[in-house]
Amino acid sequence: MKFVETRGNDGVRPPSVTFSEAILSPMSSFGGIYVPERLPELGERFLHDHRHSDYKSLARAVLSAFELDIDQFVVDRALELYDGFDDPAHPVPVVRVRDDLFVSELYHGPTRAFKDMALQPFGVVLSSLAESRGEQYLILAATSGDTGPATLETFKNRANVKVACLYPDGGTSDVQRLQMVTEDAANLKVIGIRGSFDDAQTALKTLLSSDAFRATLRDRHIHLSAANSVNFGRIIFQQIYHIHSYLELVRQGAIVIGDRVYLNVPSGNFGNALGGYYAMQMGLPVEKILISSNSNNVLTEFIRTGSYDLRDRNVIPTSSPAMDILKSSNVERVLYSLFGARRTRALMDELDRKRVYRLTDDELDLLQAVFAADYADDNEVDTYIRETFIGNGYLMDPHTATCLKAHASCRDKPLPAIVYSTAEWTKFSPTIAHALTGENDSHDIDALKSISATANTPIPPMIQALFDRPVVQAAVIDKQDIEREVLAFI
Ligand SMILES: *Cc1c(COP(=O)(O)O)cnc(C)c1O
Repeated sequence: MKFVETRGNDGVRPPSVTFSEAILSPMSSFGGIYVPERLPELGERFLHDHRHSDYKSLARAVLSAFELDIDQFVVDRALELYDGFDDPAHPVPVVRVRDDLFVSELYHGPTRAFKDMALQPFGVVLSSLAESRGEQYLILAATSGDTGPATLETFKNRANVKVACLYPDGGTSDVQRLQMVTEDAANLKVIGIRGSFDDAQTALKTLLSSDAFRATLRDRHIHLSAANSVNFGRIIFQQIYHIHSYLELVRQGAIVIGDRVYLNVPSGNFGNALGGYYAMQMGLPVEKILISSNSNNVLTEFIRTGSYDLRDRNVIPTSSPAMDILKSSNVERVLYSLFGARRTRALMDELDRKRVYRLTDDELDLLQAVFAADYADDNEVDTYIRETFIGNGYLMDPHTATCLKAHASCRDKPLPAIVYSTAEWTKFSPTIAHALTGENDSHDIDALKSISATANTPIPPMIQALFDRPVVQAAVIDKQDIEREVLAFI
């Protein structure tokens, strides 16, 4: 399978590349990104064949339909990482919370957020490629709290890859910070920035586009890559769990193969939602994909009105920080799929120039045939967490809780919905403790103990252990010193 460019070809780059090439250098012509040339057609036959497949067998079958240029033993080694999840036989449990509301738990990996679903196997694939080509890679990551720990965890002690990870000092939860600063390996560097996540992200983009920085890397024979979800190496692993979750509903007797369901996705950069969209294009019977946001509701507005409008918007800090995003990078892949490369380039250019683009009425109809959207503010999230715990005995993180708004408002048919749970309660414990008891904890450890007692559920060992591990990554610096710090590391 070849990969093509969302904004068309500039006549300089190759018009199509292999999967390996797309993941080693993820940016394409005119600032676009890579997408598969076509999607495999799986259809109902595939669902019947895999009715009883375990997660890894299903994953192997979905990946092989993409005909990737990756050796099977590398794919197998990558998928073995799911054996490190809580229950190797069931890395993604799907829980019926009430009648038509199922929660697909994507957070049972080592860092307790759904980033592990893709980054765990991605780490194996990328470092195997680098090793087989005899090349050294530097991965730069800026994180608001979940991507950082998952990226460090997956590349820890892997050959031919170094990771430098920037986070806003004071801008993450204690658990998220400890997951990074206690990570001890010679190929990892964690750098706290005095500033916000936006500052960290802007500093990273400046570095990525600095000619001097690239020249220095070239002199040292180091290539630069990215581990965010513009990299298709992550998206490829994000279709599997949508198909798996559907089959879980079949196995639980809630539906039969062919019945339609809603997929309800808490969205930031739209990687998770895109995986659902691709699964639907490949033949998964999906009625609609419900896109859930917090008060940074640019996606809600886009899907309802066709206008993607960043004018007069600033990021609002919320209790679901992984979704505090305005420029949602994977929407571009949906535009490409629905409207083609020429139109995608025009729309993305407009967004860069005018900070707004508008779909035509016909285009909006196509978008709304697939997606519906709603958002929940922090007060609603707080209420949803409390009500779901009291009414259903189910503990939900704030990102997952945003979905309950769309679940109530966006379904026009009485079909079951799969809500994707993207983080364990342990990662955002002060928000959850407040929702359950009204208390205001300034330290995660107090909130964790309180929730553990209230919900009668243990603090998982890898979270508990964080508080006893030594801090080995103490660097906290000003923005202008990042380049020097990164160069000193490599
Ligand atoms: C990354 C993340 C999201 C957003 O996922 P996208 O694929 O970027 O839309 C939602 N919730 C949590 C907890 C996350 O870490």
